[in-house]
Parts: sequence; C-alpha cells; structure tokens
Amino acid sequence: MPIYHQVALNIPLFKLMTYRHDKVLPIGTRVIVPFRGKPKVAFIWESQIKPDIDEEKILPITTVFDNEPRLNKDWIELLEFTSRYYHYPLGASIFTAIPAGMKKSKQLSYPIVDKTFILNKTGLEQKAPSQHHHKLLALWNALALGIKLSAAKNIHARAIHYLNQWQELGYLDEISNHTINVKEGAVKLNEQQFLAYKTICDSLNSFKSFLLFGITGSGKTETYFEVMAEVFSQGKSVLFLLPEINLTEQLLARFAKRFPDISCALLHSRNSDGERTQDYLSALCGQVQLVIGTRLAVFTPIKNLGLIVVDEEHDSSFKQDNELRYHARDLAIWRAKQAQCPIILGSATPSLESFYAAQNKRYQLLSITRRAKENARLPEILIDNVRHQKLTEGLSQRTIELLQQNLKNGGLSLVYLNRRGFAPALFCSDCGYSFSCPNCSAKMVLHRTAHHLRCHHCNHQIPIPAYCPDCGNVDLSAIGFGTQRIEDALKKIFPTARIARVDRDSMSHKNDWQEICNHILERKLDIIVGTQILAKGHDFDQLNLVTVLNADGSLYSADLRARERLFAELMQVSGRAGRDKSAGKVLIQTQLPDNPIFHDLKRQDYISFAQSELNLRHSFRAPPCVYVAACRADAPQLDDAMQFLRDTLQQLTLPENIYTYGPAPQLMVRLSGRERAQIFIESTNRALLHNIINTIANVMQKLAKKRSKIHHVIDIDPIEC
Ligand code: ADP
Ligand code: ZN
Repeated sequence: MPIYHQVALNIPLFKLMTYRHDKVLPIGTRVIVPFRGKPKVAFIWESQIKPDIDEEKILPITTVFDNEPRLNKDWIELLEFTSRYYHYPLGASIFTAIPAGMKKSKQLSYPIVDKTFILNKTGLEQKAPSQHHHKLLALWNALALGIKLSAAKNIHARAIHYLNQWQELGYLDEISNHTINVKEGAVKLNEQQFLAYKTICDSLNSFKSFLLFGITGSGKTETYFEVMAEVFSQGKSVLFLLPEINLTEQLLARFAKRFPDISCALLHSRNSDGERTQDYLSALCGQVQLVIGTRLAVFTPIKNLGLIVVDEEHDSSFKQDNELRYHARDLAIWRAKQAQCPIILGSATPSLESFYAAQNKRYQLLSITRRAKENARLPEILIDNVRHQKLTEGLSQRTIELLQQNLKNGGLSLVYLNRRGFAPALFCSDCGYSFSCPNCSAKMVLHRTAHHLRCHHCNHQIPIPAYCPDCGNVDLSAIGFGTQRIEDALKKIFPTARIARVDRDSMSHKNDWQEICNHILERKLDIIVGTQILAKGHDFDQLNLVTVLNADGSLYSADLRARERLFAELMQVSGRAGRDKSAGKVLIQTQLPDNPIFHDLKRQDYISFAQSELNLRHSFRAPPCVYVAACRADAPQLDDAMQFLRDTLQQLTLPENIYTYGPAPQLMVRLSGRERAQIFIESTNRALLHNIINTIANVMQKLAKKRSKIHHVIDIDPIEC
C-alpha cells in the first residue's frame, strides 16, 4: 500500500502537492519529487493523508534525504504562520527562508555534531528493537549508557536517522559535554543600563517584549551583551538581528571580544552561499549559540532560543519589499512568543509602531537617557535658514565657515546628503526639457565620473547627452546636488583639505570602506562627503562637525513615513558627532526652519516628536493606530491596473469596521516599465482585516486568470506607498 504525503514545493500555488512513498516519511524531511517532468526539491509537510485526487495519477517521491537533520516543528510552525499572515504561498515562503544549498538536489554535507545522547526515562520504558535488527539493537543498548553521535554512526550507518526519530518521540536526552564559560564584561553597567538589564533578566524564561530606548552611544549594545551573557550561561541561545548597514567589522569584533567561546553563525548577504548554508545547517543541528544576521536571519532554526535582540529596530530594511513581504521585527516577536523568551527591540528613534505599543503597555519601555562614556556629550544642533540665501554650490555661508574653522583646528567634518551621483536631474536651460527614465516615474541622475545618466530605480543608463532632443540646445544644466558634485565643490573651496567621498558608488569594492576607516584613524582625512552609509553604526571619535545639506525633500513628501524617517536619519547622523570628549556640532541647512521637526531635533527630543507624529496618525486613521494592508496591481498601462482593482472591490461585501481607500496610483506610478495602483484596506481589528484579505486574495487570483498582463500582490503592514 503506498503512503501518501503532502509536500511543499517552490511554486506560486497555495496548495500542497501529493506524492506517494512506500514508507511513512517524517515531517520536515527533504526529498526530491518530479514536478512537470522535472526533479524538484521539496519538504514533507504532512504524511499519511487521504488523497483527494485520483490515486493513479499520484507520482512517487524519487529521493529521500533521510540522513539529513529535518526541519523541526518550531520552524515549520514559523513558516506556516509567515505564509498565512503575509498571504504568500507556503512553498515559496519556505524557499525564501532556507539557504541556497538546501534548494539543490545534492545530498548536503552536514557539520559533524558530536553530541552525546542517552535514553531517558520514557526511552527506557520502551520496547527495545527486535533481535532481527541486531545493529539497531546494539545502537539502542549503547544509548542506554549514553553514546556520542560520532561513535553511534560506527554502530549503525543510519544512526542519525534513528536518533532523530527517537528524539522526536521523546526517548532521548542530550547531554551537553561542555558547560559554557561566559567571561565577565569589561564595562560596569551604569544605573540606567543596570536597571534595564535587571528588568529583562527577571523575565528570562517567559515571553515579553522590551523596547530599549536610548540615544546613540548610551550603551545599548553593552546592555544587550550583559543580558546575552546571562542567557548563554543558562545554556540557551540568542538571535541577534540588525540592519545590513550596521553589521560592521567594528561590531563583529566587539561580539568576538565579549564572547570568545560562543559558537556563532553569521547570516548576511556579504557571506557566500556556501558559508551561509553551512552556518544555517550548524544552527539547525543545534551547534550554534549565537546567530547574528540581517532580515533573513529571522528564519534561522535555532535550538533552545533564550533571547532575541533586534537592534535599530526602526530600520526599514527589516521589511522585505518584494515577493514574501515580511517584516523581520514582527516575525521576531512571534518567534519570541513561540519560544517563550524575551525580545529586546533597541533604538534611539523607535519606530512609531513600537513606540505606540510601549504606550499601550504591550511592550515594556526601558530608557537610557545619557551617553555612556563619562565625558561624551551630545552634539549641539544648529538650524541654518537658507531660504533667502545664495548658496555656493549648495553650501551655505555658515556651512563653509564652520568647515573652514574645523579644518583650521584639525577636526574631522562630515558633509551629509542623501543623494548619490553628481546631480539629480539634467535640464535643457532653453526649453526646460528634462531627462526622465523611460521605465520609471523618475528623473535620470547625472553621474559625471561614470559619464552617464542613470535611473536609481531600474538602473537604466544612457551616455550623457550632448544636446536637448527636443530643441537641439547644447546648453544642458545639472540641477541640484549629489555627493559627487559636493565633493568637487569642496575641493575647489578647500584646495588643501583632504577629502573623501563615501557612498554606494565609491564603496563598490570590499576594501574601500576599510581603507577610508584606516585613513580616518590615521588622521589622514579632513572632510568626508557621504550618504546614509555613513550615518549608521560607525564610531569615529574625532568626528566633531556634521553638516546636513538636503533635509527638506522629506518634508515635502506625500509619504506617510517621510518625517519619521527624516527624524531618525538626522538623529543618527547627529549621533556620529562628539562620540568622545569634544561635544561636536551639527548644522542643518533648511528652507523650512520653522518646521516643528527641527524644534524637537534641536532638543534631541524623540518622545516629543513621536507624540506629535502619533497624534497626526490618529487623526488620519493611519498606522500604527490602525492596521493596514495594501492590495496592489501593476500592468503596462495604469488604466488596466486600476480597472483590475475596481473590479476586485466590486466583488466584495465589506463588513463593518473595514475601510478601503482607492484604487489610486502608487506614489511612484511607473517602475521598470510597469504602472502601479493600489487599494489600502484598513481596520482597527486585525482578525477582521485578515479575513477580508483572504477573500480579496481569492478574488484577485480569479480575476487575474483572465487578465494575463496583470500582476497583483498583497502587502500586509506595508511601508511602501
Ligand atoms: P549604543 O549601542 O547605545 O550606541 P554602546 O553600547 O556602543 O552604545 O556604547 C557606546 C560606548 O560607550 C562604547 O564605546 C561602550 O564601550 C561605552 N560604554 C557603554 N557602557 C559603558 C559603561 N557602563 N561604562 C563605560 N563605558 C561604556
Ligand atoms: Zn528607471
């Protein structure tokens, strides 16, 4: 009698596929099955099912990797939740969450886990394997006394398989063969740090969310470290998530120094596929106590999870904005609940979502209000009204004076602007023609050193035009400023200064950054021009002047979160100044000096900013005060996308407490040759929203079958607008 199994495949379908095998295969086993004539990797998701299709048509599973450790129950639950919550097919979610190596049809080489297993009380009460299977019986008998895995494999070739099975049945205990020594930290926590540490440690073995709110340099990292030390010494493991940009050599070195004996897995995009696969497998085998990684690391299987830290929790890179549109912070909270352990969300500028949750007592707020190093002071923030000023290549008189002064005093200055390239647009000075991207609703950015115009959204490039295609005029002018242009200007104004530019264009090689760091440490630089790459994570003690050039764009933006992001960004970049003894100055050029955001920024008063922003969100019925999902469609023509969404809406009967907005074009309508529209669905009731989205997903799927040009997606808790 064949046994039927449901397997998860990497396909864009919500349903699982049925295959047969002659034996029962445990859930989580990796297999290969034929799908549309090709072998495909899949995972057993359910076994011994009653098929609802013609049994004759059910194909056999071709390969079973039963010697590999299986995906465990917690992980399977996490992925089921993810798929359900984000309305994304289960199989496709799973294949987003696993590393490249596990997607290949090759048998995986697993790291040798030399753990010792022993039959526990339940195990000893079981019937031993029969005499016919003498090797299996020998394995069983060895287990009664306790045996290392490496030795077990010599008794029975498939020892891993049986140990897995018996462990799942609850017959085995693992004897840890080394107790972990966690050495003492080098710093003594101050009062506020200690209070935070103590509060978290008091709920180590239960689920609780903490919002650790402390300005940059207030000692959050040291506080995480102390809590982590406590978790490690209890034999449990830690998941530490952070934005890619903050994952610096500097920080990794701090981890290594603080926890030299802790086995650690690093999961981020700079590691090769091979390295990531190996680290992931080590975690799956329970060999790792610390997983450090970016967004995707939230899916790492971890045994014995005792703590999750999400550093810089406000960072938008935790949300994936394509395919599986998950938010790593929110999934991390779900995982902490599943593991019944605490989670620490840390930030100097918490997301309004987290701040709101802390206000509503869903999270416990822990604050550190002072900088940790005794003589480190907060920078002085100055607002420079440039409304009626004539700027020199984008720089105000005051900016130039301060830079001049700092240069004379031998200080290090940062000129910050969030725009790469030479200039954000090229215009014909005669007829006003501007060069737009043919694929996107965006201007092409002038890159003078690379001799082209480039779209920063789809990467479309053309050589710098010699004349206007409309009127033939050869006098084309670059409008606005990018980092390259500012760098050129500074070189002219300060011919003796040593200047470097730091942005994604100048940092394309792995060692570029290290070189700049060395130059800074050796005091071989006077001025750095840079984008947000510089705003985060790096500590340069000498940096004592920051000038900010183009803050205003965000204040005109229609994006709901633009102000929140600007505030965070400016706090971050200000936080770079005066990390050490000298207080440091920050000068912000703006045409809108009276905007309340600057009032709060000057006093570095996040709470006041967050409170007024929340009041606004309340009055707009916007998140985090309500829950939102976006239903989007795109097509070559906007009309088709809009019509598709109108038709979707028409088929719905909306219950009370569900509101819809749109359809309307997205803020950036054209992207990579497709035009985009969306409906926002909003409610104060999450479950209700979830239900209606299920219905909408079905409607959209049905409608899309007849309209091949339409793509549609659902984005839960969207950030994009
Ligand atoms: P954050 O993570 O909030 O930016 P860090 O934990 O990195 O802050 O601390 C900033 C600096 O202050 C680091 O150099 C750190 O070693 C130091 N520091 C933190 N806590 C203390 C303390 N209690 N005593 C002395 N120095 C500290
Ligand atoms: Zn483009």
